[in-house]
This record gives sequence, structure tokens and C-alpha cells, in this order.
Amino acid sequence: MTALGTYWPFLLLVPTALTVVVLVVSLVAKALLGRARVAAVRRARRAERFDAQGRPLPPFAAGLCDYCQKPFDKVYYLEGGYRACEACFGNVARRQLRGEPWQPPT
Ligand SMILES: [Zn+2]
Repeated sequence: MTALGTYWPFLLLVPTALTVVVLVVSLVAKALLGRARVAAVRRARRAERFDAQGRPLPPFAAGLCDYCQKPFDKVYYLEGGYRACEACFGNVARRQLRGEPWQPPT
């Protein structure tokens, strides 16, 4: 008692200060995790609308592929009213990049 003197009530502030520090650290961590989540969602949404080279992809919806005649959850709607699944759309896009003529489904 003599070593602490009359300053011992200030020791009560130590748990309060620790609580404030833990609270601030947890809020900052939560904000950073929230930013990372938002960035991941934005990347995923962008990947749905643009290819790896940044070119816009055609609109898509669930439907039947005109090339392989199978139903898919994601079918691209091409010019001319044709629909292509992701695999068939990739084949069409590769042909276009090579300069080969685009062939509609037979
Ligand atoms: Zn297909």
C-alpha cells in the first residue's frame, strides 16, 4: 500500500485501456476482412462479364447450347441468335482469334 501510495486508483484504468485496444484492433481487422470480401466479389463478378484479356463477354443465361445440343446453367447468346455453352463458346472465340471464319451450328 505504501509503494502505490495514492495513485492506486489509476491501476483500474489498465483493464479499460486493454479493452479499448482489443476493441480497436478487432474493428480494424473486421474492416480489412470486409474490404477483402468486397474485392473478391467484385473480381468474381468481373470475371463473369469479361474474359482473361479484358474483352466483354456476350450476355448469358441458362439454356440449350446450339452446338452440342445440351442444357447448361450458363449459355452465351451470340450474334445471330445462336447460343453456345462455355466450352463451345471457347472454341468459337479461339477460331475468331485465329482469323478463321465463324461457323454457326449445323
Ligand atoms: Zn456446347
